[in-house]
Amino acid sequence: MRFASIGSGSKGNATLVESSGTCLMIDCGFSTKEVEKRMLKLSINPEDISAILVTHEHGDHVQGVARFSRKYNTPVWMTQGTYNRCRQRDDYPHLTIFSSHEQFDIQSLTIKPFPVPHDAAEPVQFVFSDADHQLGILTDTGTITPHIVEMLTGLDALILEGNYDHNMLMNGPYPQSLKARVSGRTGHLCNDQAAGLLKKINCENLQHLVAVHMSEKNNAHEHVMHAFSGAMGCSSDWIRLASQNEGFHWLEIVKS
Ligand SMILES: [Zn+2]
Ligand SMILES: [Zn+2]
Repeated sequence: MRFASIGSGSKGNATLVESSGTCLMIDCGFSTKEVEKRMLKLSINPEDISAILVTHEHGDHVQGVARFSRKYNTPVWMTQGTYNRCRQRDDYPHLTIFSSHEQFDIQSLTIKPFPVPHDAAEPVQFVFSDADHQLGILTDTGTITPHIVEMLTGLDALILEGNYDHNMLMNGPYPQSLKARVSGRTGHLCNDQAAGLLKKINCENLQHLVAVHMSEKNNAHEHVMHAFSGAMGCSSDWIRLASQNEGFHWLEIVKS
């Protein structure tokens, strides 16, 4: 299994997960032109995307989904709640609604969705598995629930939101209402909340940890690195950071 990001942050998100010829795109918050350009850098063709999975209806995750899926005839999967919010705007050629509690397969990948507290209709995040490995993704989450801890324990790789540094958010430029939204129980994970999760889950098999969905105004690389490496008891070089413009290049999960 390998995975990459087309870009990550409040202006757009899209992640790729590939195993044995099945390549899934999780969210598409970029224009089709931008996705095509960035896929070229990752040496992947848009035609090779087996399906797009949508986590929730916020623009930074969904704004490019309908156009891409129409252009490349890509199947789209989302929850009923997400669809209810998206369907006025968009039309998907092949849509499948999934339950946020039931696992399903797309070709060689098994997808385990799980609900997260976020200010959207029915937001989910995912664990992906093939015969050998498990990769988890957690972004756009305001609170770590016991269910999230259960889903993300014992993985081989983890893509984890480190959205904001608490002090930077509170002393930063956002209006009070937005500060409350971001830091609320259905907002985003701050670096310390993400670090708290890392301390709770079993990280024994973790080959890759990537910090994503970082706020450009309310966070800094060194704060994320400090929080994540502190929780892991590792050197900060080991942790990767996804950027808004570049995402991150393919990371391979190898047999240990
Ligand atoms: Zn987001
Ligand atoms: Zn969101």
